[in-house]
Amino acid sequence: MNLSFDKTTEYVLNSLEEAGFDAYVVGGSLRDLLLGMEVHDTDIATNALPAQVKEVFKGQNVIETGLKHGTVTLVVDHVPYEITTFRTEGPYSDSRRPDAVYFIDSIEEDLKRRDFTVNAIAYSKSRGLVDLFGGVADLKNKVLRAVGDPAKRFSEDALRVLRAMRFASVLGFEIEPNTKAALFAHAERLKKIAAERVYSELMRMLGGKSFDGVLREFFPVFQLIMPEVFLPEKDLSVLPDAHFRLAALFSTAADAKTALRRLKADNHTVKKVSALLESAPVPTKDTEIKYFLSRYGSGALEISLFRELFYDEKGAYARVKAVYESGECYSLAQLAVNGSDIVNLGYTGRETGLVLNKLLDMVIQGNVKNTKEALLNAIKNIDNR
Ligand code: ATP
Ligand code: MG
Repeated sequence: MNLSFDKTTEYVLNSLEEAGFDAYVVGGSLRDLLLGMEVHDTDIATNALPAQVKEVFKGQNVIETGLKHGTVTLVVDHVPYEITTFRTEGPYSDSRRPDAVYFIDSIEEDLKRRDFTVNAIAYSKSRGLVDLFGGVADLKNKVLRAVGDPAKRFSEDALRVLRAMRFASVLGFEIEPNTKAALFAHAERLKKIAAERVYSELMRMLGGKSFDGVLREFFPVFQLIMPEVFLPEKDLSVLPDAHFRLAALFSTAADAKTALRRLKADNHTVKKVSALLESAPVPTKDTEIKYFLSRYGSGALEISLFRELFYDEKGAYARVKAVYESGECYSLAQLAVNGSDIVNLGYTGRETGLVLNKLLDMVIQGNVKNTKEALLNAIKNIDNR
């Protein structure tokens, strides 16, 4: 079998081989290529030591990304190519990281340390495919299977529990029964994994096309990492992205905040997900929709889409979008007068804000037209109250 890669990958493989080293494409890039999917982040494995790799690509943009683990990154036209020396791993005493890694000379040994058979295939220009564990057949059958003894592999590194679920979700694969049993048996050890790593796998899992199935099949694992989650009845495949699906796992904004802060989620995500859960049903009257828009800004579009898809509020999104795009005023920024117009009339500090908000209220209610003249006129009425 002859596989073809992008120009730079070909160049990296050829350069290493011409210098007398072995060079293989491995990991997710080979898996995705064999699946006919778009390849990102090409991983290359070699028996050259990091210093030798640097020598082969002397004068080029080589970054020492993980020298201790044997990885250097060659950057060509802003695209990174990770070149890692064949290695094996010492014992794992903490379910997180090997105590030590050792550089070795054989791709076979290197493949044994990898997590799943579909991630443990290698390809070189001179040898072709190296597939010790039946990874190619598993790719064809859409099966995710641990390399070696599944119990041992999950107990070495508990993050593999979430990686398995992530690959099942993204690739639409079934987890092989022995691998699945071991996954459940060792899921408890996820508690030892750093929150950031758990969160990052979770977000990638949430975006997968088979997420809903993975959620139902592995719900107890979700409860381990987020005791606040509940299992929604609705098929989450109707929700378009990871944030929506995340929101669908909580019954209240407060629960979502607690769980996401514990997982060290970024602030943008915490805000977005809790806003999705905060709001009441999307209003039907234009006036009310304007207040809704003034409160959430363009976020109101997302909230209404979420509520339409998840709570079956028919037409909610189109209603909000129509008002949003109508050009009608729903925010202080759209008001035909601004702070300095009010200050010029002799108002100070806090009063200015109160007047502006009162004017916005009158415009939204339809009591005043949103023109400078009408608004300045209306201020007199506010004064008289
Ligand atoms: P993607 O890049 O889409 O996340 P990937 O499979 O390439 O998928 P990486 O994290 O880039 O994942 O890792 C590259 C390869 O390194 C994997 O394919 C696998 O062979 C190996 N690997 C990564 N993480 C682990 C792990 N925790 N345990 C064992 N092997 C791993
Ligand atoms: Mg990768």
